[in-house]
Amino acid sequence: MTDETEWRGGCLCGHIRFRATGTPVRVAHCHCSMCRKASGAVALTFATFPVTAVVWESPPARHESSKVAWRGFCRRCGGTLSYIFRHRPTEVMLTVGSFDEPERLPPAQYHSWTSERIGWAHLDPELPGHERWRYTPSALT
Ligand SMILES: [Zn+2]
Ligand SMILES: [Zn+2]
Repeated sequence: MTDETEWRGGCLCGHIRFRATGTPVRVAHCHCSMCRKASGAVALTFATFPVTAVVWESPPARHESSKVAWRGFCRRCGGTLSYIFRHRPTEVMLTVGSFDEPERLPPAQYHSWTSERIGWAHLDPELPGHERWRYTPSALT
């Protein structure tokens, strides 16, 4: 049986909207300094889906935030929407905060980049942590 669960979300101003179908491949918190700078939040939580499971009603603008990844955002309101690893283009990470009903998503399973975590940001302290990305570029082949 296929999972037809549907998710909807978008940016603050509503210019960018997406639909995703099925169960997220994973949900995780990222504590890296780049996610902090990109979002302005103390950590950024992503729900990852196969790119084929996500439909953009209007595509986000994107910028190359590092040599390994693109970040999708809204040009009008600046909302942070997505992240795609160059080495893993089959998956798109959607920011959990951009979902219309984020409380329906499965809870985050782990922390990435705990090496850059803000010490006082105690988010789900019982979850396992990884000092860097759980999926490093060398593991993405
Ligand atoms: Zn917007
Ligand atoms: Zn990050």
